Order: sequence, then C-alpha cells, then structure tokens
Amino acid sequence: MRKKIIAGNWKMNKNAEETEDLLNELIDKLPNDIEAQIIVAPTFVNLASASDHLEFTNIVVAAQNMHQAENGAYTGEISADMLQSIGVNTVILGHSERRAYFNETDSQLAYKVDTALKHNMTVIFCFGEELKDRQDNQHFNIVENQLRDGLFHISNESWENIILAYEPVWAIGTGETASPDQAQEMHEFIRETIRKRFGSDIAEDVSILYGGSVKPDNAKEIFGKPDVDGGLIGGAALKADDFVGIVNGLR
Ligand code: PGA
Repeated sequence: MRKKIIAGNWKMNKNAEETEDLLNELIDKLPNDIEAQIIVAPTFVNLASASDHLEFTNIVVAAQNMHQAENGAYTGEISADMLQSIGVNTVILGHSERRAYFNETDSQLAYKVDTALKHNMTVIFCFGEELKDRQDNQHFNIVENQLRDGLFHISNESWENIILAYEPVWAIGTGETASPDQAQEMHEFIRETIRKRFGSDIAEDVSILYGGSVKPDNAKEIFGKPDVDGGLIGGAALKADDFVGIVNGLR
C-alpha cells in the first residue's frame, strides 16, 4: 500500500528562531494517531538545526532544492553530500518557482534526480501545468512531458525513492485550488502514465501529492479522492494550526 504523505514547503520563510518555534509547535500539536509521513522543508540555513531538532521524532526534514554536481565551483549552491552530512535525505526538486524564477528545465531536473538517486535520497518531484496550458487544453500533454523528461529514464528500483507532487501553477499561492474532481482526474492520468511506462506495481505504489492552496477547510475533500495520497503545502505550512488541520484532513 502506498504511503499517505503531508509535506510542508516553507519556501523563503522563517528565520532561525521562527524555525525553532514552528518545529516546537508541530512537535506538540501533530496528531500521533494518523498513519502518514510528515515532511517539513525549511530553508537551507536552518536545515542543520531542524535536522537536529527533529532527530528523535517521526518528522522528516527535506531540502527545497539541491545542485546536480557532486561539488565544485558553483557559488551559492548546495550538494547532496552536504545535505546528507547533516542528516537530510529528502529533497524537493522541480518546484514551479524553481522552474519559473531560476530557469530550471526538465533536462536539468533529470540530472538532479539522478544525483539524488545516486545518493539514495528521496525525491519529491514537482510538476504541473500553467493556467494558459489548461485554458488551451494542453494540461495532460504538459504533465506527461514533464514526467517523461524528468523521470522516464530512471530504473524501476528507483521508484522506491520517488514521491510525485502535482502542483498546477495557477493554484500555487493564489487561493485558487483545483477542485477535488480536477485533482483526481489529473492524478488518475499521472498514475496511468506511470503505469504505461513502468507497470502497475510501481504505479500503484507511488504516492502522488496534490499541491496548490490546500487549506484546513478543503484538505479533507481533496485527500478523499482515491488517487490523491496527500499534499505538498506552501502558505498553510507556515502556521502550526493550519498544517495540523491539513494533516487531520487525512482522517
Ligand atoms: P501553496 O503552495 O500551498 O501556498 O499554494 C504550494 C506549493 O508551492 O508547494
């Protein structure tokens, strides 16, 4: 059975003290009786302290990005080895903000995925169409291409380390959510796309998260859809009560 997962992407928010405070609140408030993997992704500068802080909890720490090279002259970048040396073994790759503002391409992402897999890290692979793609009825094509270019080259065994996160760009930080039916329709398509390339076992086992304006009051309905296995949460991950409310949406 595939895992339920709720991941909080803190983006460029929370300084050192605020990070500690939010982690403490999450430790206090997250329910213990829900079978789900909880992941939080603070900024790079707070990863080491977050990793220490959460060492004896079930909460997993993820990075929001990393570089594909092992090391070298890449000013301002962070490698897989650096992350692993502070106990971070999960990384978000391909977030739409990385694609849009930092020009990350599918082919570059394929290299990043390879580096992460080589290090046996878990990848939360993000993808999703823009508003104009949906208006032009190209959303299925766009999503299929992103999956093909970013992930179709990996081995069957590697899928154990892959979490998919479908995030329609028009729903991120906009307050506009895909309807539960729109999310389900796309998640079913994603699973079918994976099934055609990698077979039923992998397609059934991979967790597919929905991301884009998930809130405590819409989480339950979205997570109730059969192909939605949890969420990647932005804005609502910054307040413990909202994040906990979303986790409770899995009930
Ligand atoms: P949002 O962000 O929940 O603020 O829409 C989601 C994301 O970017 O992962």
